[in-house]
Amino acid sequence: MATGYVWHELYGWHDTGTSAGFVYGNGPAGLQPALHYESPDSKTRLHELVAVSGVADGLMALRPERATDEELLLVHDRAHLERVAAESRLPKGGDAGDGFSPFGQGGDEIARLSAGGAIAATSAVLEGRVDNAYALVRPPGHHALPHMGMGFCIFANVAVAARVARARHGVGRLAVVDWDVHHGNGTQAIFYDDPDTLAISIHQDNWFPPDSGHLRERGIGAGEGTTLNVPLPPGSGNGAYLAVMEQVVVPALERFRPELIMVACGFDANVLDPLARMMVTSTAYRAMTGMLLDTAATLCDGRIVFSHEGGYSEVYVPFCGLAVIETLAGSKSSVDDPFAGLLDGIGGQALQPHQAAVIAEAAALAGDVPPAR
Ligand SMILES: [Zn+2]
Repeated sequence: MATGYVWHELYGWHDTGTSAGFVYGNGPAGLQPALHYESPDSKTRLHELVAVSGVADGLMALRPERATDEELLLVHDRAHLERVAAESRLPKGGDAGDGFSPFGQGGDEIARLSAGGAIAATSAVLEGRVDNAYALVRPPGHHALPHMGMGFCIFANVAVAARVARARHGVGRLAVVDWDVHHGNGTQAIFYDDPDTLAISIHQDNWFPPDSGHLRERGIGAGEGTTLNVPLPPGSGNGAYLAVMEQVVVPALERFRPELIMVACGFDANVLDPLARMMVTSTAYRAMTGMLLDTAATLCDGRIVFSHEGGYSEVYVPFCGLAVIETLAGSKSSVDDPFAGLLDGIGGQALQPHQAAVIAEAAALAGDVPPAR
């Protein structure tokens, strides 16, 4: 057995065009176009580092298929699928819904391939063909809502794969751990009333989407208590993130006892990211992955699937991603993170009192997660 690994060359060809960072460029209005932040580099360079480090040699390559209408309709409405497909035929593509989610001509097929990557990784784990899996997919998915794309996301990759896991593999209780630095609002919305899905999001407080991901958002109806938000103050580093894992995420998982753990694995909490103000390094990503692997081994026969989300530092995401993939594969390559020596020692990496206060509130809520029946 091995760790499954999803990549497709077309992920690097998803075209977000030019942009003033993440706002559409408009020269006369003073918005000089530049590269969109959601550019291929952080993803293609991670894939290349996985190869150059030799780690890829020990992985089982999983080739993704395009998600079908039937699969996407488990989460999205037909109007969204039709709008994306129609705009994808235009010479310059379109936008998935909120004006922050551009795609080029043919973008529909690449977005379907991204959701299909999450499905391929999940299916391989559930069918016992691999021990665990990392889907290095693009575009990301965790902001996408049933009726529209959002925040660079077109289809809700993890949520679609989760629903496929239910429909096709009989999975009951499952947990999504989202450590992308932005709130996993799409995943939350999709599963908000679902008592069988624990949706945990660790994110920078009140960043994107605005006014989203508060502690008080805890699920509704039968799903009350199965949404858990940890809105960390800007400036949180390795100490805060490891404390969240120890005090909130692992205890919540142990109460909920999922049959499958899915990780919405963004790397934009890294200290060099242009789209957030956190301080995480590869050292913490490696440790966090190890904690989830241990928890999955205890709770659900090791069934855990990682699906790539955000992360916009093209030089640093590769080393954070390599740390995660090495940990999943139970190996360590000869490539060391050349930045860690400096970044691990930055002032403020240790848990700060104002961060601990938020984590204590979230830990109390974790104690209210509905236990396995
Ligand atoms: Zn993000």
